[in-house]
Amino acid sequence: MIPISNPQRQFNALKKEITQAIHNVLNSGQYIMGEHVKRLEKEVAQMIGTKEAIAVGNGTDALVLTLEALGITKGDEVITSPFTFFATAEAIAQVGATPVFVDINETFNLDPEKIEPAITEKTKAIMPVHLFGQPAEMKTIQQLADVYDLYIVEDACQAFGAFLDNTRVGALGDAACFSFFPTKNLSTFGDGGMITTNDEQLANRLRSLRTHGSQIKYFHDEIGYNSRLDEIHAAVLLEAIQKIDLWNEERRRIAKIYKEKLRDLDFIKLPKEIDGAYHVYHLFTIVTEKRDDLMNYLINQQIQTGIYYPQPLHLQKALNHLNYKNGNFPNAENYANKSLALPIFTYLTETEQTKVIMAIRNFAGDTV
Ligand SMILES: *Cc1c(COP(=O)(O)O)cnc(C)c1O
Repeated sequence: MIPISNPQRQFNALKKEITQAIHNVLNSGQYIMGEHVKRLEKEVAQMIGTKEAIAVGNGTDALVLTLEALGITKGDEVITSPFTFFATAEAIAQVGATPVFVDINETFNLDPEKIEPAITEKTKAIMPVHLFGQPAEMKTIQQLADVYDLYIVEDACQAFGAFLDNTRVGALGDAACFSFFPTKNLSTFGDGGMITTNDEQLANRLRSLRTHGSQIKYFHDEIGYNSRLDEIHAAVLLEAIQKIDLWNEERRRIAKIYKEKLRDLDFIKLPKEIDGAYHVYHLFTIVTEKRDDLMNYLINQQIQTGIYYPQPLHLQKALNHLNYKNGNFPNAENYANKSLALPIFTYLTETEQTKVIMAIRNFAGDTV
């Protein structure tokens, strides 16, 4: 079976370094909030180009803690995409605020044209998602945030290392959230997350929130959370981050081959990059009317694909109370029915990719 992603190959490529790094942590006697976390925060801040980086337990917590640290709470509205992983809207609801959805366009990201009409007196923030590794169209979002005095919180969980023009994703708003879940571009073999920001005050508040609202041990200023990155994961990530630009380049190379070899198939729409984007292809998502047939055909050829995402967030049962209906966001609904992600990961072999391409071409020959 050719899997849709395979983080194990990334770990295998660094097996010696990672094993040594884990040994070092085990021997250090310091397993929570030690030197590795500090070093990783420094490296991430330096790489992304922000003053601060704050490690937390996972990407979802990164979003929740950031919203809370910005003072977003009950009665507030946060504008975001209905076409993303559930955690994006879940985090907004977790702090008591209301997710307000705006439809996407053919980039799979927020349609910048549709944001302004969704802004109300209660809007406090816009939370663009850099879905599948492609930066959202930030220019309009930044202008609107300026005019209406709104925070921008990037959900950059799928886009570590991506650029928009010459700026890394993670430095395009007031704060940005990353996930190191095993399948993400930069990952560890467990949960992990990071927040980047240029706001030192916000960073201090986040450091307090992640450790029980405490700056000095056993003295608590507020009700916080227990959401920290383990030293073992920080040590693994310190090895992986050395490779991330190379690994993202590799994903882009694989994406380019898919585009070249599938370009002439007119039953498939290929992913497009926006101007100035350095897309890091967390996923390579095509759009086709024949989605379900193609998916079944490929699985019979031992090729795994994925549907991201089969149900847009405005139609999720958990958000019923927001009273959205089918038809509210036609693009998100359309892509939920027609999008299919093909295998893409660092160390996908040429033989494997050729097999995927040939299978799609055979499907076209057989049935289209
Ligand atoms: C993975 C992901 C998250 C959540 O990250 P976790 O580390 O799994 O909590 C949030 N938003 C998006 C867009 C994601 O892809």
